[in-house]
Amino acid sequence: MEKLTSPGVTRAVLTRYGIRARKKYGQNFLTDGRIVRGIVEAAGITKEDCVLEIGPGIGTMTQVLSEAAGTVVCVEIDETLRPVLSQTLEDCDNVEILWQDILKTDLKELSDRFNNGMPLKVVANLPYYVTTPILLRLLEDKGRFESITVMVQKEVAERICAGPGSKEYGALSLAVQYYSSPQVVLKVPPACFMPRPAVESAVLHLQAYEEPPVDADEEFMFALIRASFNQRRKTLANGLSHGFRCRDRVLTRGEAEAALQALGLPPDIRGEKLSLEQFAALSRELERE
Ligand code: SAM
Repeated sequence: MEKLTSPGVTRAVLTRYGIRARKKYGQNFLTDGRIVRGIVEAAGITKEDCVLEIGPGIGTMTQVLSEAAGTVVCVEIDETLRPVLSQTLEDCDNVEILWQDILKTDLKELSDRFNNGMPLKVVANLPYYVTTPILLRLLEDKGRFESITVMVQKEVAERICAGPGSKEYGALSLAVQYYSSPQVVLKVPPACFMPRPAVESAVLHLQAYEEPPVDADEEFMFALIRASFNQRRKTLANGLSHGFRCRDRVLTRGEAEAALQALGLPPDIRGEKLSLEQFAALSRELERE
């Protein structure tokens, strides 16, 4: 089967199989060979690796992954792509396709079945309508994935990589940075897709941590983080006194201000100024009380 990495071949394949990109599944097919190879290179795929590709689409990146990896397991929700994938991947003996929703996939069963329970590498041009739930599901399943290299909307990449004090910084930045170290490895214009998305894109590489970078009770710390960013305009102490609840614990404004003082932070500081380390320290301080 010819390589799909050009607009001409992609268009011909879509026409031959009567495929219309389905918006409801976030289908924007990659057509640029340099970008596809760039993603696979950034993921550092070798023949030792078992790769999970989320949403193979018509198989453009799958063909390249099949050459680079030991095994490729694809999870695709759209069964109308069966005929095209059976042709575009006909020479790819190391590719397995599971026709299901990645958000409902048993990830432990998948790594047990295809990689003896060892960590997988994830590579994907993600459907943008479910980027955040997919990323959080993969990251929260600690130890299951060694790295995640994915195309996302540029703004999402910026939010994920943002640091304290910037307007992009928020609960998503802290959640991803707790589980992994994120890096933007490629910027990708709309012209590299068919159909062209309305937004710019970027490829993110998330290298998963073996151990979290900070010491805190996860549930407690993320309840603090959510309460801080739910009410971004309020001071942190005010936000926590209105929005924090974890295992039946709530906080008064006085308790929150006292904890901030113990950490040497001003009582009127906003959540968006605190680093992950400071949220962890605040969590330990409040839990001690
Ligand atoms: N990998 C292909 C490429 O780069 O050309 C297609 C990428 S397209 C942006 C997203 C793909 O994810 C589509 O094939 C879509 O059908 C699939 N998809 C959407 N939602 C999904 C879900 N919940 N679970 C699995 N696949 C999904």
